[in-house]
Amino acid sequence: MKIQFVGVGAAIKTIYHGASTVVNDHILVDTPPAINMLLKKHKLHIDTIFITHMHGDHLAGLPFWLLEKYVEADFDEVNIYGPPGLEAKIRKYFEVTFTDLDIVKYPIIEAAKFHTVEPGKSVELPGLSVTPVEGRHAITSYGYIFRDDNTSVYFSGDTELSESVLQAIDASHCMVIEGTKKDGKLDTHITLEELLPVVRSYPGKVFYITHRQDYDISDLFEYNLHFPEEGEAFTIETY
Ligand SMILES: [Zn+2]
Repeated sequence: MKIQFVGVGAAIKTIYHGASTVVNDHILVDTPPAINMLLKKHKLHIDTIFITHMHGDHLAGLPFWLLEKYVEADFDEVNIYGPPGLEAKIRKYFEVTFTDLDIVKYPIIEAAKFHTVEPGKSVELPGLSVTPVEGRHAITSYGYIFRDDNTSVYFSGDTELSESVLQAIDASHCMVIEGTKKDGKLDTHITLEELLPVVRSYPGKVFYITHRQDYDISDLFEYNLHFPEEGEAFTIETY
């Protein structure tokens, strides 16, 4: 499985774009505000999107992505998976932010098929199975475990280090996991201080930290802990 980080930042207090990762060059996990520019920069064409939750730093790029697809007359089928109410939320976004745009007359949202996911109920894609995992956040938030014949990668989305998150870590070979802050504890998010014991207890698993505010990582040395830069891609294999 190939994963490419297009954004690795938290919502605020960061030099990075909002957290977003692309799987196998065509599946997108989350749509931060700058997603159209980021996808162009890395020459990525997306046909499948998974949304972890409906906070703006993960969602606000989706209306613009749909708008551009519509304007470009790109009729490729697109499937968007996410929490309940996702399609209605995107309609609302257009109503509020493009008051002059008649989305009934211009079927921008119909350019994609929306699907509501449920924790534990896998989505089957060619060569991949994607299982939603309940997170613990300020609003409904799902992580996703992507599995192919070779490996499994867990994308945490925004969450605390809850029991279901620990189970997902145990069930996966590689993590793309949020580390919003370095020290202490945060409601609704994970800090490095909380995560480090988990990283050390799974020396055979790799942890990529995303959704980062700006903090000093120069004193964090764990060989299975990585802080990817935007644009960096990795091939995940399990030996
Ligand atoms: Zn959030």
